Amino acid sequence: MMELIPKITEKAWDHKLEEKVLKGWKETSPYRFDENSKKVFVLDTPPPYPSGRPWHIGAAAHYSQIDMIARSARMLNNDVMFPIGIDRNGIAVEAYTEKKYGISIHNTPREKFIEHCKAALDELEAEMLGIMRSLGLSCDFDNYYRTDSEDFRKLTQSTFIELWNRGLVYEDTRPNNYCTKCSTTIADAEVVYEDLPTQLVHVKFALKDGGSITIATTRPELIGACQTVIVNPEDKRYKGIVGKIAVTPIFNKEVKIIAHTQANMEFGSGAAMICSYGDFTDVRLFRELKLKEIVMLDVRGKLTENAGAYAGLSVFQAREKMIADLEAAGLVERRETISHRTPVCERSRTPMEIVPMKEFYLKQIEFLKHMRMFAGGMNFYPESARQLLMDWIDSVSIDWPISRRRFYATEIPIWYCKSCGKAHVPKPGKYYRPWKDPAPFPKCEECGGKEFVGEERTFDTWMDSSVTSLMISRQQTDGKFFKRVYPNSLRVQGKDIVRTWLYYSMLRCYQITGDFPWKSAWVMGYVVDEKGKKMSKSKGNVVDPLPVLEAHGSDNFRFWSASEAGLGSDYRFNEQKLQGSSKFLTKFWNTARFISSFPQPKAAKLTDTDKWLLTELARLIIDCRRAYENFDFFVSSTKIRDFVWGVLADHYIEMVKSRAYGEANFTAEEKEAAWYTLHTCMKALLQLLSPITPFITDFIYSSLYESGGKSIHTTTFPSAKLRVWEGQTPIGEVTQKLVEFNSKVWNEKKDRKLSLKDEIFVGVPPELKKFEKDLVAMHKIRRE
Ligand SMILES: [Zn+2]
Ligand SMILES: [Zn+2]
Repeated sequence: MMELIPKITEKAWDHKLEEKVLKGWKETSPYRFDENSKKVFVLDTPPPYPSGRPWHIGAAAHYSQIDMIARSARMLNNDVMFPIGIDRNGIAVEAYTEKKYGISIHNTPREKFIEHCKAALDELEAEMLGIMRSLGLSCDFDNYYRTDSEDFRKLTQSTFIELWNRGLVYEDTRPNNYCTKCSTTIADAEVVYEDLPTQLVHVKFALKDGGSITIATTRPELIGACQTVIVNPEDKRYKGIVGKIAVTPIFNKEVKIIAHTQANMEFGSGAAMICSYGDFTDVRLFRELKLKEIVMLDVRGKLTENAGAYAGLSVFQAREKMIADLEAAGLVERRETISHRTPVCERSRTPMEIVPMKEFYLKQIEFLKHMRMFAGGMNFYPESARQLLMDWIDSVSIDWPISRRRFYATEIPIWYCKSCGKAHVPKPGKYYRPWKDPAPFPKCEECGGKEFVGEERTFDTWMDSSVTSLMISRQQTDGKFFKRVYPNSLRVQGKDIVRTWLYYSMLRCYQITGDFPWKSAWVMGYVVDEKGKKMSKSKGNVVDPLPVLEAHGSDNFRFWSASEAGLGSDYRFNEQKLQGSSKFLTKFWNTARFISSFPQPKAAKLTDTDKWLLTELARLIIDCRRAYENFDFFVSSTKIRDFVWGVLADHYIEMVKSRAYGEANFTAEEKEAAWYTLHTCMKALLQLLSPITPFITDFIYSSLYESGGKSIHTTTFPSAKLRVWEGQTPIGEVTQKLVEFNSKVWNEKKDRKLSLKDEIFVGVPPELKKFEKDLVAMHKIRRE
């Protein structure tokens, strides 16, 4: 046997080598975007949101997969623009800052508070960028954007000013979702529902004429704001009672009992009190029945003067006291604990209150038909994401409240005339801070007054992040560039922000450009814990990606993320699962190292065994290219793994080992054909795998196939022209027969307690005659 020394000297893949590969990329920057190329592929990537430590392992998986999209698009011959930004506005940042520095937004000067937020953000951002770099993301780190930068805020404000001037923004006082924890109005898109245990109290309301009616309520603290009682017109129990007057307990106010279909006969006694405001049914009925609103809650979540003896108490305290008072008065018929579908704030998980607030609204209702049309025509990966968006569009019933009472966010660029109150909006194209800067107007256009007062509110953060596509496409600053890259090729994002980021981006970009921002959208599932539960900081089951990456390496993690779940499905993470991908990478490394012992002929006269393998490889190339075109890494990663293990290593390599080593019987031509096939196959596998595991593949590629330092990531996928099989039988059947025959021989040797090197007497089936020479050498088949 010839002595061969593997060209790959390292005995095993050590993920510490990833750092070396990273350094190489830094020097050669293989990912430059050429905007003048014929085929541009532009990604609108989610700017990650730093909301505290640790960053979510799911985010690491998400961005790894987005990177796979960028890398595979490059290898499919596109010029790829892969921008990256950091979303630095908003409530979560403020909450984190308050906690970190032990301060409160309510008693810290605005300027000071903003400084603290910036410092906290810089720290979190550095860590996030560090993780993204070590994951091997091929995005444009040199030009990353921040949503709190002057440029970005200028864009948010300029687009707002344009919409204002077109009459798409108005101010109105309306009962709104209000989070008392976050101290701000919340859009419907950020309200989620949780089933919470809640007391259902059956309270007796006296009737003015004598007798009583029982009303079941989860909000007894709002009895003081009750303006009517409804019963269902179909409800026979209350036939004689409609039109009578009920007297509210404790407050002793007379309210009319009316028939209304909103009364649910199945809930409680079937009679309901309507107060301002327990839920949005109350809001609708107050409007419909023209009832007079009684404001019971203030912005701190405390009861107002209208609540009499309950003023100043929190909702919870007031409820407890009210129940106690009702009990003492003998007005509670019974109490029960029910599971109540409660609207809560998506961020703080605080139950929503409905508080009338004066807010700015961006018109969206009149755009819903356009949104529906676009959602119907866009490509979705996976297709099921389309319905998530459609369902949301169908449920939107009010315009978007866009003003927030926060500090760390983009300011609403409005100044009001001090004497007449007229709102003035400045010219677009500058970043404005009305709470701080002097008004950019000489005098009021209404009354000529010279003094102004700046708006103190800020925008909902989705007002910023909904224009990322305009930002990366330089909509305001570079018309030529914008034309080339807009609409963008693909929006990539998580399933959890379909009704916010996806929807709002469509709305805002359409309003500004008259066109929708992308051709397609790719929506990834959640990474959940090992039991399938969503990871959240409050549950304490968030996994820190840093130690995981340090212990296992990025390629290992990336291969796991690609091969764990199908496109759009949820991923269950536990660290042990990384052992599976580690095993595969070890197998792959060993295979490459074995192949690296042989010279690389430029051409060869292939044997049938070689043709069989290269044709199987061609099938793999076709499958992988198709999967990559559909941004599906599950299919490509698992097919490559199955091929490496189940075709190449276990069968082909075993069949050609003797031949490649140049043992007896084989001609030099046959030997070189094995070498050629092994290398052709390895080179193609490296390229096919490189979007998923960019480090190990580039390392092997540059050790074996590129001495000039050219990265594998500047190459394109191999073509499937390698299909060279000439037999009549379909290649899949041939492979199956080969696998069956080899397994049969191995089993027989095992049963007869022979070693694999021992000779055996066995007949090669006629359909495998083409491979006989290799099979005889492989199994040491004796022929008499
Ligand atoms: Zn909240
Ligand atoms: Zn004025």
